[in-house]
Order: sequence, then C-alpha cells, then structure tokens
Amino acid sequence: MGIVKAEGIVIRTMNMRETSKLVTLFTRELGILMLDAKGVRSGKSRIGAALEPLTVSRVVYYHRETRDIQFLTQADVVEFFPNLPADLEKWGYANACAELVARAQTSTEATARLYPILLNTLRAMNEPSAESRVCFWGFQMKLLSVLGVAPNLRQCLNCRTGIPTGEAVMTCHFDFARGGFFCSNCSSEAGLHLLAGETLRRLAEFQSLPADKLAHGKITPPIQRQIENFFRAYFAFHLEEIGSLTALKFVREISGPLK
Ligand SMILES: [Zn+2]
Repeated sequence: MGIVKAEGIVIRTMNMRETSKLVTLFTRELGILMLDAKGVRSGKSRIGAALEPLTVSRVVYYHRETRDIQFLTQADVVEFFPNLPADLEKWGYANACAELVARAQTSTEATARLYPILLNTLRAMNEPSAESRVCFWGFQMKLLSVLGVAPNLRQCLNCRTGIPTGEAVMTCHFDFARGGFFCSNCSSEAGLHLLAGETLRRLAEFQSLPADKLAHGKITPPIQRQIENFFRAYFAFHLEEIGSLTALKFVREISGPLK
C-alpha cells in the first residue's frame, strides 16, 4: 500500500453508504481514478468542497494494486468555477464534457493531451458572457482529434480546393465514412450530409482555436443547427455516444429545441 498524490478534475460523484462518496477524478498523469471518500458527507469533513463536480483538486490516497477503487485521505481545492453551477446551461454543457471524458477511456498519451483541453474549456465556460454551447462544440472537436478520428476540414476530398468562402447556403457534401467533404463541383453522390461553407469554416475553427477564443463568437441559428447535427451524426458514426449523454439531455430540456 503506497501513498499517492495527484491533481485532477472531479468529473463525477456518487453517494455511497451513509456518509461516503465515490469520486471519479480525471488526472493528467494517471487518467481516471476512482476514489472512495469515506465519511465525507458526515458534516464533520472539511474536504467536501474539493470533491464537488468540476472542481480541480489535489488529492492524497492509498494505492493498492488489487483494488479498482482507492481510499481517499485528503483533498484540497486548486481551482473552481463558480459560474458553472450558477447557470443551468453552462452546468449542463460542462458536465457533458466531463461525461465524454469519462466515456472516452483514452490511452495514457491521449489523456495527457485531453486534460488541458478539458481544463481550458471549463475556464472559458466559466466566463460570464461565454457561449457555453460553442465551448462544448470546441471541446468535442478537440476530443475527436485526441481520439484520432478528426474530420478533414481543410480541403475537398477530391479536387483539394479549400472551404468555399462566404457561403451560407449548403453546397458541400460531408462524407462521414471518409471523414471529409466534397465541394459542389465534385459531389455527385446522394445521401451525403449537406453543409454550408460557413459551417465547415466554424468546424475548422473549433479544431484550431483554443476555448477562450471560441467562447464569444456569434453563430447564426441555421449554422448552429447544422453544427449540432454534424456532431450528432459524426459521433454516432464513430462513437455512438453523443446522443445518449445524460448531461446533454438535461441541456435540451432546459433550453428547449434549438432556435
Ligand atoms: Zn472538389
């Protein structure tokens, strides 16, 4: 049995027994840790704040190789995001990011890349005027890159011309099987997913720009709808996950259908 120190983001908590909590912590070096916080809900414990969802915390625990769940002994808050739980929509999207991390089960190398992406997304969403939905889209796009299934948004799969400029009408055809698009000159295939050049440009920004640069971009409702549908279809094709995210269902309930 060894004492281990780690820092990570609380991505999920579940009450256990009378006063305990099962904490899922996402760390840069160790990936996902499952920690049993005994007695934390007893009222006498002072580590409760460090175990709130989406808090960045430094923890100490006893590690035993034979156990999946380790015993937590200490936890301190490193950073927290007060505007997230105060806003139902921000909270929903932030938790949807955490849920995706929990389900993605990334390799050690991918985990090291994903950790700062999640952290930067939470920081950006916490800004009062930030568009949390756009931050969430940026997170999803970067997650696809980490998982090695990023779409090619640079050029037409056939003639290699770039994204058509200034187009709000849907002229590009996205091929989910090949992970890229055909321009209006090259596409003759029915059944592909129609997207506007403007939508492809936004999606490319989600790949290239950090979360804080995305958070304040204004996107028109028709383009928002296309983006939403693109992600749903893309994840359905590659991961079959996105549609079933509990946190996202919650967001849809509180914000109603997309405008
Ligand atoms: Zn083309």
